[in-house]
Amino acid sequence: MTERRIVGTTILCRPGEMVPGEIAWSPETGRITHLGPARGPAGPDDLDGSGRLVLPGLVNAHTHAGMGLLRGVSDDLPLATWLRRVRESEVRMTAGDVRAGLRLALAEMLRTGTVGFVDMFAWTPDLLGDVLAAGLRVNAAPAVFGYDGVAFPAAWDVTGAEVLDGVPALAAAVGGEPRVTVSYGLHAPYTCPPEMIRDVARRRAVDGVGVHIHLSETRREVEESVRRHGVSPVRLVADLGLLAGRTHVAHAVHLLDGDLELLAGEQVTVAHNPVSNLKLGAGVAPVPALLAAGVRLGLGTDSVASNNTLDLFEELKTGSLVQRGVAEDAAVTGVDGFLALATAGGAAALDQGLTGALAVGAPADLVLLDVTGTTATPLGSASSFVGYAATGADVTDVVVAGRTVVADRRCLTVDEEAARAEVVDRAAHLRRRVSAG
Ligand SMILES: [Zn+2]
Repeated sequence: MTERRIVGTTILCRPGEMVPGEIAWSPETGRITHLGPARGPAGPDDLDGSGRLVLPGLVNAHTHAGMGLLRGVSDDLPLATWLRRVRESEVRMTAGDVRAGLRLALAEMLRTGTVGFVDMFAWTPDLLGDVLAAGLRVNAAPAVFGYDGVAFPAAWDVTGAEVLDGVPALAAAVGGEPRVTVSYGLHAPYTCPPEMIRDVARRRAVDGVGVHIHLSETRREVEESVRRHGVSPVRLVADLGLLAGRTHVAHAVHLLDGDLELLAGEQVTVAHNPVSNLKLGAGVAPVPALLAAGVRLGLGTDSVASNNTLDLFEELKTGSLVQRGVAEDAAVTGVDGFLALATAGGAAALDQGLTGALAVGAPADLVLLDVTGTTATPLGSASSFVGYAATGADVTDVVVAGRTVVADRRCLTVDEEAARAEVVDRAAHLRRRVSAG
């Protein structure tokens, strides 16, 4: 059996657990074959890991990768106005625009150490094929905004009802592919009526696929839910049967009594998106309370329209620090705890049977960070660097399922320069179409 080896390095197997030596994997099986003391010096085909830190590949627990053209399109606006402004662009985007934005997002994620992502937007077999070719993992939910509305109406001539009907076929089309999961994508309870949420809960019970939904992102959303339905968004979807099966919730910023217990259900995962929540002025999710209640929490960026990057290292630092500011307590969140959200938490949300840790027998999903740069000097602890100083620019190499997809800071699976050029061109055309009304 051939092996790829990284020798003479430090391996952060999981938050707080460091192993010096060597990590090796089989390109054939894509799984880790050795993790521990080095078994001799690096050979000609091995990677010298000195000056590098190996950590588990990060997983983005909530994004909309197809919105790549919309970076910075609506800065400095609250969610309700932001949604209207972004929607003006979304409804004019072509299938080519979505695909170009996705390709750039795939390159950005890989170059910043993200190996998998949980996504809600337009998904077709072609777009899933682009993700597979790029080498990432995805849990993809085609989004509906009610029975009529879809994410990009000018790109594909379908209704929300047709998108729902197509989910089992889309899941079947990629059924044998371990790096792809397909879910139902309900945008939110304020765009999808209660009968639709109940309908999807029933379909999901038959089809066995999960659901991805935005819940309780803003105080206004929760207040309107109470006014219209008498209960919080979380309670509403629970009463409609949604949380009885596999459900992934984005946000959970504003919670009412009883919501924490519902979100702690064993079928539920939650994505925390600190930068997006701060940028849109939505609020700060109660992370310590969510974790204390046993909620399975991941870390997400949301789209580049509300962030404006897909760099999870930014979420790690911002997310942990803002909790301390709110609690006025530096001990309320530790860096290892937040790194666990971006690894184990994201892996749970991905729903592919992964743990987010490096171990013999686990898939080789790993990231190499350069620890020789100025911001890593002097290197105190690896956790300190990862949590407070590292950015995606420190990522040098990325391996997903045993395949090297980034080497020496160059993405091997997506032509990043071509992807950037296409997005520049398409974004300019899109802006002109939006201006023309
Ligand atoms: Zn979102």
